[in-house]
Amino acid sequence: MGEVLLTTSRLNRIFKITEESVHLEAGVALTDLDAALRNAGRYYPPTPTFMGAFVGGTIATNAAGAATFKYGTTREWVQAITVVLPTGEVLDIERGHVTASADGSFDIRSSRGAATRVPVPSYRLPRVAKLAAGYSAAPEMDLIDLFIGSEGTLGIVTEARLRVLPVRPALCLAFVPFAARLSALAFVRQLRGIARDTWRTKDPHGIDVSAIEHMDARCLELLREDGVDVANGVTIPAGSEIALLITLELPPATTAEHAFDEIGRARDVVAPDGSLRRFCRLLDAAGVLDDVDVAVPGDLARAGQLLAVREAVPAAVNQRVGRAKLAVDARIEKTAADMIVPFDRIEELLTIYETGFSSRGLDAAIWGHISDGNLHPNVIPRSYDDVKAGKAAILEFGREAIRLGGAPLAEHGVGRNAVKQQLLELLYGKKGIDEMRAVKDAIDPEWKLAPGVLFSRRS
Ligand SMILES: Cc1cc2nc3c(=O)[nH]c(=O)nc-3n(C[C@H](O)[C@H](O)[C@H](O)COP(=O)(O)OP(=O)(O)OC[C@H]3O[C@@H](n4cnc5c(N)ncnc54)[C@H](O)[C@@H]3O)c2cc1C
Repeated sequence: MGEVLLTTSRLNRIFKITEESVHLEAGVALTDLDAALRNAGRYYPPTPTFMGAFVGGTIATNAAGAATFKYGTTREWVQAITVVLPTGEVLDIERGHVTASADGSFDIRSSRGAATRVPVPSYRLPRVAKLAAGYSAAPEMDLIDLFIGSEGTLGIVTEARLRVLPVRPALCLAFVPFAARLSALAFVRQLRGIARDTWRTKDPHGIDVSAIEHMDARCLELLREDGVDVANGVTIPAGSEIALLITLELPPATTAEHAFDEIGRARDVVAPDGSLRRFCRLLDAAGVLDDVDVAVPGDLARAGQLLAVREAVPAAVNQRVGRAKLAVDARIEKTAADMIVPFDRIEELLTIYETGFSSRGLDAAIWGHISDGNLHPNVIPRSYDDVKAGKAAILEFGREAIRLGGAPLAEHGVGRNAVKQQLLELLYGKKGIDEMRAVKDAIDPEWKLAPGVLFSRRS
């Protein structure tokens, strides 16, 4: 499309790690960042599931992950960035230093003195846990937020300073199948409330949950069909309607890599008032304790198996899409969505998904980051007609998610995908898209960077 193609692979230096932040280049992969922080005992929690992503990519997409429930999205962790604009000008932006004027615009001044006025869009963002839906906008917004999540359309991020946590928590994973969906949703609601109490009271023995993932009945069937449960030593009782994968955070002293002299504190975790013991009591009260599979802190092999079960779900769907594409129709493609609603509307969204799929006779699996109200409905297409019907269903779901106070684009962004661009327009209307275009025109008048991403040049 005539755009600039570049690689950030040599922007791979980590300059400095302190107790509170890391200063690094944009081409550092998250795996490398995590390894360096682990050595220093620090922690950067808002990573997406895909640890092969680069820091610049996660900033450009405002990536979010399973732990958004506790830690928010990438945006909340970016303190400063260096951006190269399409004109070649370099901007160093520090959070809190440049905010939009009262008339709703930024004046970006080049080193040669020329000023560019950038109008801030007037739409209001939905109040949801994560959002990857075009340009951020708010009265008197911070300039850094305009670039975060802009999907590479406004500038190239070359360096960043990210906030980090001074200590890494110990993680405990629990795979919990439920016979009834409603009981699982009630359990998630209860855990969300208890976790928030723990954060507020800072109770060292409180139950602290950073993520709850879910897999619906069709996902569990796919796991069984592919033998993933057996391969990973996980029991999924017949008739389970849903399974949760819960991440509990425990005091850092419960991690294997901490010195033995802290073992006394580690023992607290299994003492009568420890958080793990309290969590087990909750599972017992919900009637699911006997079916739970747990990976305790330090048991990386077991944790890997439980995470593999969760990761096997999208892989199972992708394989089936690929097989249908080869065997049935080359036009068959992944037909999926990534929507979010306030948590108290989650049951409605699930029902909307299920009704929308079943009324169209579609086979589909639903999974996602249920602690955020973020669910991924995925069609398992058997024909090209299924793909077309699935796209129609997704547009309908998008309208419904917006009606429920949510958003149809939570974490996977928009890119050049035609359906996602329609969802973006459903969210902000034609006027909103024109306002984004005005931002793009002001910063990148020649449309050099990522043309066609988010929206086309002409309306
Ligand atoms: C298997 C898998 C699982 C995923 N799971 C999640 C998830 O759980 N949550 C989530 O939020 N996302 C998820 N993603 C999406 C992924 O996190 C994002 O695509 C990722 O953050 C992008 O990083 P990247 O380095 O791969 O960027 P790319 O894919 O290369 O680029 C993504 C966009 O960012 C732009 N970009 C990249 N680098 C820069 C830069 N330095 N400056 C400016 N623009 C730039 C590109 O132009 C492009 O528009 C997943 C992706 C995969 C493949």
